[in-house]
Amino acid sequence: MSRLSKLYMGTNTKMYKTPVHAVRHLARLTELCSDIPPDVLQLFIIPSYTSIEGMAKLTTRDAIMVGAQSIGYEEEGQYTGEISPLMLSEVGADLVMVGHSERRHTFLESDFDEERRVRCAIEHDFTTLLCVGETLEQKQYGVSREALAVQLKIGLHSVTASQANDKLWIAYEPVWAIGVNGVPADESYANAMHGEIKAALSEIFGSEIGGDIPVLYGGSVNLQNAEKLIRQPNIDGLFIGRGAWDADNFNSIIRAVLPLFQERKGSVRSGKEW
Ligand code: PEP
Repeated sequence: MSRLSKLYMGTNTKMYKTPVHAVRHLARLTELCSDIPPDVLQLFIIPSYTSIEGMAKLTTRDAIMVGAQSIGYEEEGQYTGEISPLMLSEVGADLVMVGHSERRHTFLESDFDEERRVRCAIEHDFTTLLCVGETLEQKQYGVSREALAVQLKIGLHSVTASQANDKLWIAYEPVWAIGVNGVPADESYANAMHGEIKAALSEIFGSEIGGDIPVLYGGSVNLQNAEKLIRQPNIDGLFIGRGAWDADNFNSIIRAVLPLFQERKGSVRSGKEW
């Protein structure tokens, strides 16, 4: 079965929510989404490192995956401030995000840094979510496609097709669309960029595997724009910041887009809600 037959919906809570608040958020989301089977919807939350253990104890990989916001390159060593893959495994992380816009642009991580982090995450068996996205300047110069291809080709340099098939997800998060000053991407532009990403993934891994890698859109997603985005054929899911930090609001977005996604896939289940 294609990995793209289900909808991917997740949130990165950035440097918000203490462990107590993160667990509450997870518990409420679990309660709200308990009727939706995991083969229909893959949910995930990427909290601060200190919240992973408490959250992983409360949920299963099938229900809601719990992820880390980055990963170090090595298992141990003189890397103050980094987090080891062994530490993430031990606390129960399922997923690792690499190359979020804030890591690239606030903390100046390069494509080569991201490549090492991706390699480490995949080698340690984490589902790996590589974030890519062009800056406003790159968009204005008309080099978005090239910028995305560079981030993908360097970031995924050491990933094999079989690793990609099993473990890799991509988030398209244009830098200009993210956060409080972000302007959400127009749905047709987002769809076109997802098409470029899928073309680059097919070039890297072959069309069968490259074409089956989930590509999620992120950047100021909310209840108003989520439906238009999910109607686009190249958008396999939504990766949401602020709009998902309230579990009830996140659930409202999920309930709005899931039927549209099902309709798009021609897979509305008779006799069941989903
Ligand atoms: C993000 O930080 O990955 C993100 C998508 O944030 P927001 O939805 O708040 O723009």
